[in-house]
Amino acid sequence: MAHPKTVWDDHPEPLTVASAPVPEYGSGSLADLLPTLAAGLGVPDMSAAITELTPADRNCVFLIDGLGWEQLRAHPEDAPFMTSLLATSRGGTGRPLTAGYPATTATSLASVGTGLPPGAHGLPGYTVRNPDTGELMNQLRWQPWSPPRPWQPYPTVFQLAHAAGVHAAQVSSPTFENTPLTKVALSGGTFLGRLSGEDRVDLAAEQLAAGDRSLVYTYFAEVDGAGHRYGVDSDTWRGQLMYADRLVQRLAEQLPPRSALYVTADHGMIDVPFDEQHRIDFDEDWELSAGVALLGGEGRARHVYAVPGAANDVLTCWREVLGEQFWVASRDEAIAAGWFGPRIDERVYGRIGDVVAAARDDVLLIASEREPKESAMVGNHGSMTPAEQLVPLLEVRS
Ligand SMILES: [Zn+2]
Repeated sequence: MAHPKTVWDDHPEPLTVASAPVPEYGSGSLADLLPTLAAGLGVPDMSAAITELTPADRNCVFLIDGLGWEQLRAHPEDAPFMTSLLATSRGGTGRPLTAGYPATTATSLASVGTGLPPGAHGLPGYTVRNPDTGELMNQLRWQPWSPPRPWQPYPTVFQLAHAAGVHAAQVSSPTFENTPLTKVALSGGTFLGRLSGEDRVDLAAEQLAAGDRSLVYTYFAEVDGAGHRYGVDSDTWRGQLMYADRLVQRLAEQLPPRSALYVTADHGMIDVPFDEQHRIDFDEDWELSAGVALLGGEGRARHVYAVPGAANDVLTCWREVLGEQFWVASRDEAIAAGWFGPRIDERVYGRIGDVVAAARDDVLLIASEREPKESAMVGNHGSMTPAEQLVPLLEVRS
């Protein structure tokens, strides 16, 4: 099946792997945030990679799932408090952070908590191949189960901070307390589960005050959920944004002395129209599926695992079929371009697809049979476009 190119014909820049806007690992990515705060707290071996931030004794990171920089900027009337902080974002520069690749929750939460880019922490996608079993593994739900520690062996920044005498705490939904993702990405210190957003931010403020030096994380999920279901400009999405804005203000107003509150997100989002030009269906496309053993990742950030010996053919075919709609790279090209960070740990190498495909604009590579739920989502994320890659780093000091 040929894919008609329409809006894509206008793209001026040549489509090469090197033309993809790679995340700012080491200076302005999510993985740099906690090490920067921990360095300011005197935790050993941490470096203040985000040089614009001024250290504080008490630090709170409030992560709003799915609230990208561009979506926040597009809705000042729904988020007046956060909007008032935009101009002084990222230590007064007025600039965002980059999430990391792929821009997806499991990957980003691991980047936040470990302070490492995906190539090191080893959660480089929504679903990736487990090289030991040859099966796809869902990194968000940790299915099928595999031992968490060998999968992500590094200590979290919370653990390092706790060991250095900093009061460390996470305040999130009770349902996340014992999940493998929480264990490998966010453990260290005290986990406190609360169902309501108000209870969470109130408790986060208490936890900040509980130590002379503190590092507290709190989380709100519903902006992302509303975006996936209804789109990033839907009434439901706007309602969740308004609610998140009130939570941020409520927390800001309770900050104990010597505190810094940082509001950020794991990724942004982009709505994808429901037609065949924008939603290419892997399960109906014999050209794309030829030679493919496993399809991983998600619609805007695919890991493609080829049958033995077919990797080059799959790469050639995907480039031809997808044209300018996706950046299509071999595993080694994507690694060399720095998509997953400056280095790839050996255990992580085989989790990355033989072919990696990242969407350039509002297109999706769905799989209607193997991923019926994901294929029906309105809002999506994963790739390197500004709408999904840029996240806020808003700051409030007391
Ligand atoms: Zn999401």
